[in-house]
Amino acid sequence: MGKYEAGNWPPYNVKAIEQNIRLVLRTGDIRKLNGKTYHVISQHMGFIAHYSLAGFGDEYQDIEEFRRKLQTSEMSRDYNHTTLQAVREETDSDFNTWYGPAYQRSKAAAMKAIIRAARTRWCKECSKEVETQFGEPLPEGLCEQCTAKKVAAQPVCPKCGKKIERLRLYEDAEVLFNLSVDGTGQLVYDRKDIIYGDGRQSIECPHCQQELFDDELKAMAFLNGAKQLELVKGT
Ligand SMILES: [Zn+2]
Ligand SMILES: [Zn+2]
Repeated sequence: MGKYEAGNWPPYNVKAIEQNIRLVLRTGDIRKLNGKTYHVISQHMGFIAHYSLAGFGDEYQDIEEFRRKLQTSEMSRDYNHTTLQAVREETDSDFNTWYGPAYQRSKAAAMKAIIRAARTRWCKECSKEVETQFGEPLPEGLCEQCTAKKVAAQPVCPKCGKKIERLRLYEDAEVLFNLSVDGTGQLVYDRKDIIYGDGRQSIECPHCQQELFDDELKAMAFLNGAKQLELVKGT
């Protein structure tokens, strides 16, 4: 009978499969998908035959699409579709008789681990794992703690007290056009260049439009959280 004796199929290595799918989703690189994980996905998770691991990789270069289909399968739009399938694998008495409970349990566990990975996001700042409902992206790619830290570190306008994410920079310049007329006698403006003046800059708060700084280095320090910066004189 060999390895695949009826009612006693060998179980999957769930841990190895989980590690591999997490690597694929964390890096966003479908080429990291290995044969064993591909086998579980293509055989048991409602994917139409893609014939080879390479062909499958071509189909799912869009990792967000892949993430979604791991939950819905290719046949459904229900985000709980493959979860229900996993439960069925575990509990169906015919399957358990034909293949054996160890195999069925490991299959269901591998499917659930893959779905769990599809619903996991990694904070781009601290790499922390975040469980989501259906794998939706984190706001700005950040976990809650990193978002809170970012908001707390955001500079505040010394004039109006509002949080500032970006400043406005004005610089004197002249715009050079070539001016001609077209076949119907209308003017044609052909923009050729921007000619900067004496380099004087005015850097303003986007909320109250008051000038805060007149040089970029101070603006950079301000946006990086430096306090007690000297403001432009006379404002
Ligand atoms: Zn974080
Ligand atoms: Zn302001």
